Amino acid sequence: MSVWYVAHGDELLIDVDDYMRPSKSGCPWGEAFFRRRLRDAITAGKLRVREVWLINSSSARHYHAIVRLCAAMQTLPRLIWQLHLGSDLYRGRADLMRFYRGWDSPSLLILPQPIPYFYRPSDAACKCREKHITEQQFQLGAAACPVWRRYRGASPWELFGPSYREPERFVPLPLGKVPLDLIMECQTCRK
Ligand SMILES: [Zn+2]
Repeated sequence: MSVWYVAHGDELLIDVDDYMRPSKSGCPWGEAFFRRRLRDAITAGKLRVREVWLINSSSARHYHAIVRLCAAMQTLPRLIWQLHLGSDLYRGRADLMRFYRGWDSPSLLILPQPIPYFYRPSDAACKCREKHITEQQFQLGAAACPVWRRYRGASPWELFGPSYREPERFVPLPLGKVPLDLIMECQTCRK
């Protein structure tokens, strides 16, 4: 089973991939970009926060935080706050693009079970036990998970173009005007 939490107007969903990963200063990522920035935003009166939930998801080092605000906020500033509070950039950029494209559920959290003692029920549930891998769901077409289709239904490569997993070689770029053929160089077109 998977349960789906779609960010409500008064919620920030923060995806912290590895809370203890060192940031540039050596300070743990979650500390530098989540707890400290959240504290500073509250202190500065920029965010009015009702409660904070930290959830450990599929992998032991992967955390999600839900910041429940005192009042609803518009979607765009919510998405920006999520990024400011250290949420995963790849997820964040897709959330922003989905919002721009007019999707009504740009940020969501999928968990194997409901969050214990959480203040509200989840927004949806499906029978999938495995992680919803976008690529697989997308290929399933009409047979894809109906909840995935309802809330996602498109892949990041529809938003940004396909991504490739092949290793990339380093192409040094000159300062100033960069020739486009250098940008377009890839592993298979090596000169
Ligand atoms: Zn599903």
